[in-house]
Amino acid sequence: MTAPTKPTSHAQADAEETVGDDLHAPVIDWFEDNARDLPWRRADAGPWGVMVSEFMLQQTPVSRVLPVYEQWLARWPRPADLAEDAPGEAVRAWGRLGYPRRALRLHGAAVAITERHGGDVPTEHAQLLALPGIGEYTAAAVASFAYGQRHAVLDTNVRRVFARAVTGVQYPPNATTAAERKLARALLPDDERTASLWAAASMELGALVCTAKNESCVRCPIAAQCAWRLGGKPAHQGPPRRGQTYAGTDRQVRGRLLAVLREAVSPVPQSVLDRVWDEPVQRARALDGLVADGLVEPLAGGLYRLPLS
Ligand code: SF4
Repeated sequence: MTAPTKPTSHAQADAEETVGDDLHAPVIDWFEDNARDLPWRRADAGPWGVMVSEFMLQQTPVSRVLPVYEQWLARWPRPADLAEDAPGEAVRAWGRLGYPRRALRLHGAAVAITERHGGDVPTEHAQLLALPGIGEYTAAAVASFAYGQRHAVLDTNVRRVFARAVTGVQYPPNATTAAERKLARALLPDDERTASLWAAASMELGALVCTAKNESCVRCPIAAQCAWRLGGKPAHQGPPRRGQTYAGTDRQVRGRLLAVLREAVSPVPQSVLDRVWDEPVQRARALDGLVADGLVEPLAGGLYRLPLS
């Protein structure tokens, strides 16, 4: 008996492109009817608004981002406005969004935009990627959402939709793989405008319908084509998924220490910071980590503040 022939990589790529063709129109039509009216999607947000939103949304839900985003743009409507202020002001305004190193990175990007690009968010993907604190995801997202370019924008929502609809598994791997990037490129529509809509639409589908906890296939525009659904929704086979524990972690201690410093109008003594957490070794580790990350500045006499430079 002859063994079944393995599909060639060309055949696989062709198959992925065909799958993509079947998905584009329903997902984009659904998006046009169901997209949330979010401030960074409005025309007046501009590239800077898109960039700020992408930094904030990477690890924080929309509902928590909205008020901070509005205040941020009101205070710093252009990159040069943020660049003029101390990085500690960015950390203060970041509030309780979590992962506050993002605030420092956004400040660093604003400084570089002001110095290298005359204060305008650059249009080219390579220029965006060259800014400090901007990785592949953010560069692709800004180029796509702000400038309507053709880029694969792979966030956790998109990765989950592709894993289910195309690959036929419940969850994507814990970290983005080369195979996922290849698939995302193969699924990209050819023309820029459709590709940019597809990026936003597939992300919104993952955020609203094909969510991590509860996929709503009855409302899904690609239910008829979804490989995971058609395969009977096989249970997750991969390694355990990363948890999101917070209570008791160093992240929680760091959050409490930063909250004290955000509220303070003058440098804070160590004794005040010591009150936020009982366990001294973990507390010291968290404070050392904040200093090492440049989020907190130690001063003489055991005082601490948010960074001025
Ligand atoms: S059919 Fe269900 S599992 Fe498949 S993409 Fe849609 S919501 Fe997700």
